[in-house]
Amino acid sequence: MSDALPASIGTVVIGAGVVGACVAGFLADEGQDVLVVDEGCGAGSSANAGSLHVQMQSRFMRLYPENVPNMELQLPLYPKAVAFWRELASSLNADFDLKMTGGLMVAESQDQLDFLGVKARRERQLGLDVEILDRARLDAIAPYFGPSIVGAELCANEGKLNPLLCNAAIRSWILARGVVLAEGVRVEGIARSGTGFAVTTTRGTVTAGRVVLAAGSGTRLLAAGMEPAITIPAVAEPLHMNITEATAPLIGHLVQHADRMITLKQFGTGQIVIGGGWPARQDAPGGHAEVELASLIANASLAQHIVPSIGNLRIIRTWAGLNTSVDGMGVLGAVPAIPGLFVAIPGDAGYTLGPLSARLVADVMLGRKPGEDISPFRPERFE
Ligand SMILES: Cc1cc2nc3c(=O)[nH]c(=O)nc-3n(C[C@H](O)[C@H](O)[C@H](O)COP(=O)(O)OP(=O)(O)OC[C@H]3O[C@@H](n4cnc5c(N)ncnc54)[C@H](O)[C@@H]3O)c2cc1C
Repeated sequence: MSDALPASIGTVVIGAGVVGACVAGFLADEGQDVLVVDEGCGAGSSANAGSLHVQMQSRFMRLYPENVPNMELQLPLYPKAVAFWRELASSLNADFDLKMTGGLMVAESQDQLDFLGVKARRERQLGLDVEILDRARLDAIAPYFGPSIVGAELCANEGKLNPLLCNAAIRSWILARGVVLAEGVRVEGIARSGTGFAVTTTRGTVTAGRVVLAAGSGTRLLAAGMEPAITIPAVAEPLHMNITEATAPLIGHLVQHADRMITLKQFGTGQIVIGGGWPARQDAPGGHAEVELASLIANASLAQHIVPSIGNLRIIRTWAGLNTSVDGMGVLGAVPAIPGLFVAIPGDAGYTLGPLSARLVADVMLGRKPGEDISPFRPERFE
């Protein structure tokens, strides 16, 4: 798009990922004028794999044990976030290929099963619907696993959706509501101006009454450049993904592993999406993610080890994207030191949490009490 940006607007949202787009949509639904700016083209959390996560991901527990208390604080939001995706599909009258088939975290040893047992006990205390299955019970609902799997944790309200369908429907919704979407435009700085802001972009300056930082890991630099500087320690995590050709229905659940990096799920269109946290490269700090051959091979081999019949399928596409990691939970709400500034970073499994996080921030901006207590996620907790 090469159109000039509006000189002045009520709200500028920086970032057209799932969160920024939904914040814009919820504000525009109530008659607010909103500009969404994204440096990417075809922006919209497009690297996403479509897993609807609820149970704590073993990968994050292993990599960031210091974040587990924060992950537990945000845990009750996950089943609500999955339910909110269903509400969004229904309110947009859109087909997201959303299926709540449950999620299985598999174990290959007694140690891993014991780890899942402890995790499930804690998650039940925190309100999740989880149970441990031995191999016989697992086979009854998921007869596709290889011989090394000894059992699994089943989380009833996990699921999956097709992010390509979701992103397209969200884009249509916000454009129909009159949101101005500027892609290929980078925000370079935000200065306070009168009672509002002057947002400097690669396509000129826009003045706005309010600014929402929904820029994922890009939020850190934007917040640090403000006066006063705001600390949001969001970091980019480049991740690799693979997808196979389509096949007959094989894997109903969202599948993860107790001790290894894997997620597996099958879209309604038959392709199996394989991911789970294998690293990609970042071409430069703040730059793009690039696929990593070693991750492609290791990720695909592990998938075949867990579900042997995947070995018959060809991988038709690989891609890489930037995840955002903070401290195990989201950063949501107003920045008290700078009236009119808001932050919207969803937390781990941020696509799952995206629309609900956006709803909560939009409610604050609309002067309403949000439907969930967002005080643990307040932006000023890093100061
Ligand atoms: C490969 C991969 C697979 C994933 N799979 C899943 C999954 O299956 N389930 C799940 O729940 N989560 C998943 N995630 C995580 C999820 O995608 C993110 O948490 C989610 O996209 C966060 O949404 P967001 O809108 O906050 O940020 P993003 O989607 O990161 O969007 C932020 C946007 O801000 C823009 N931006 C940044 N800085 C600037 C700037 N200065 N000016 C203009 N624009 C800027 C970026 O271009 C970007 O489009 C995955 C992540 C990756 C990388």
